[in-house]
Amino acid sequence: MSFYPNARFLLSVAAAAQFPGDSGAEAAIAGRSNAGKSSALNAILARRHLARTSKTPGRTRLLNFFELAPGARLVDLPGYGYAAGAREERASWAQLIEALTARRSLRGLMLVVDARRGLQAADRQLLDWAAGIGRPVHVLLSKCDQLSRAQGRALLVAAERELTGRGSVQLFSAHEKVGLDEARALLTRWLEPTRGPAE
Ligand code: GDP
Repeated sequence: MSFYPNARFLLSVAAAAQFPGDSGAEAAIAGRSNAGKSSALNAILARRHLARTSKTPGRTRLLNFFELAPGARLVDLPGYGYAAGAREERASWAQLIEALTARRSLRGLMLVVDARRGLQAADRQLLDWAAGIGRPVHVLLSKCDQLSRAQGRALLVAAERELTGRGSVQLFSAHEKVGLDEARALLTRWLEPTRGPAE
């Protein structure tokens, strides 16, 4: 069975005023540049080129919204980790993230971390940010095909320990299709329509 077969690119956003309506459920996906975020997104959604748009020059600093199903969205955050960006660019990025935080529909954050590098300072900042706003975090240790089984296992145990009480973590490989089911199950859970009366 296809996972969100009607997933489509919705829009790129440069300012909070352009965000789509804050209804339904939303999950964000983030990672350092080159962590394997676009590949993870495309693998999870089983769409070869869906996330390519985020790589279009000029769009790398934008938030890209995808509609997976009516009322279920995924927000692709710009790759971070290179301090070279101009100060205004960093400020506008922070503003966008802040505005995302305020959205009631935001259910959780998926963080893509290159398994060969492990959690870096910038990743830890994002983890703190997510903890501060009370949203769950799930870390994908990407490119795990580059590690031996023993290395992968050790890395997973270390990451689980570091994330205790703050989030969950799994091994993932877009190339070898490792961990797709686990990542999809979590997204499905986050994006489930809320039951009962609206708050
Ligand atoms: P992004 O900048 O975080 O969106 O990263 P990309 O998805 O563009 O991937 C960055 C680089 O990592 C590319 O050269 C990919 O081919 C490579 N890559 C991504 N996923 C995997 C994976 O599962 N295994 C391996 N070995 N390489 C990967």
